[in-house]
Amino acid sequence: MLDLKSPEINLIVSVLWESAVMAKHIQQDMMLMDMTKSDLSPVTVADFAIQALVACRLLNAFPDTVLVGEENADRLRDPENSVMLEVITGYVKKMIPEADPEKICAWIDAGNHTSEDRFWTLDPIDGTKGYRRGDQYAVALAFLERGQVLFGGLACPGLDVNCKPAQYSCGVLAIAQRNCGAWCAPLNNPDAPYVQMRVSECTIPAQARLLRSVESGHTNMSHIEQIAAHLGIPQGNMVPMDSQAKYAALAAGQGELLYRLLSPSRPDYKECIWDHAAGAIVLEEAGGRVTDLNGKPFDFTTGRKMTENTGLFASNGFLHDAGLKAAAAVTI
Ligand code: AMP
Ligand code: MG
Repeated sequence: MLDLKSPEINLIVSVLWESAVMAKHIQQDMMLMDMTKSDLSPVTVADFAIQALVACRLLNAFPDTVLVGEENADRLRDPENSVMLEVITGYVKKMIPEADPEKICAWIDAGNHTSEDRFWTLDPIDGTKGYRRGDQYAVALAFLERGQVLFGGLACPGLDVNCKPAQYSCGVLAIAQRNCGAWCAPLNNPDAPYVQMRVSECTIPAQARLLRSVESGHTNMSHIEQIAAHLGIPQGNMVPMDSQAKYAALAAGQGELLYRLLSPSRPDYKECIWDHAAGAIVLEEAGGRVTDLNGKPFDFTTGRKMTENTGLFASNGFLHDAGLKAAAAVTI
């Protein structure tokens, strides 16, 4: 069982609740004002507001926090983005009354660290493109020590109570603690008990459900199709889904295989630590396995980017070897 008295678990649970509420408010208000980052990916009011909120809560709870967060406030400090900063401040003030534009930028920039011996990593809105489309997204927060993820949590407002994508979903909070399992609860009921997450027991490759990105720019769709054909997986078992909600779905037995291949437009792409740390512990603690596409364990000691790994392959464990072989057969 989770140690609900642990300060880290307490912090993760409470701040992911708040973050999910904030993400939904911003979405309902249609306040989807955004800007484009230097890598051409979008960043919205919600990405900034949630990074500010989580950093502030972390610094209050653990003053020596080292945070590796996806966003930074450089562009927000630019006077041409002052309206966006005001909007962000308005949302954060609802939860932290003393927030002002200067504090917001400082909290966001508290996430500019690189990894150290002990640190937190945050993706305030993982799957920003899914969030803007009204599809899946996740708020992902993890704590690591000496390269090992010790605690992690995912708030997935687009999943139903069984961790299946649903249009009118209650949302799911998935929390894991090393050696204590992965547990989930509906996001719309603070009193609901946590239920232990377990991976699917499927051992037959042709019966596997394969989870992949929605965005073609984040993977290699034609190679994914070839892997599925190689394993005998029918089209109806392909599950396109944005964000680390895929890890939660796999952990709850709503799929068996999860591939992130290298996109032909970015063959040198290296995965970001905040895109995997929380999802990886949730899946591992539910009995699944996570490696890169070469079967190598994730190395979380290399800073903001996972420079020693290539892509992602995760599974229910039983199908890991078959899944890696299929990827090697198609991509080599
Ligand atoms: P997904 O929703 O699974 O497609 O993953 C979303 C994440 O993909 C974002 O948080 C980005 O950090 C990451 N991403 C952005 N560009 C790429 C790329 N070229 N290859 C792989 N992942 C990417
Ligand atoms: Mg992300």
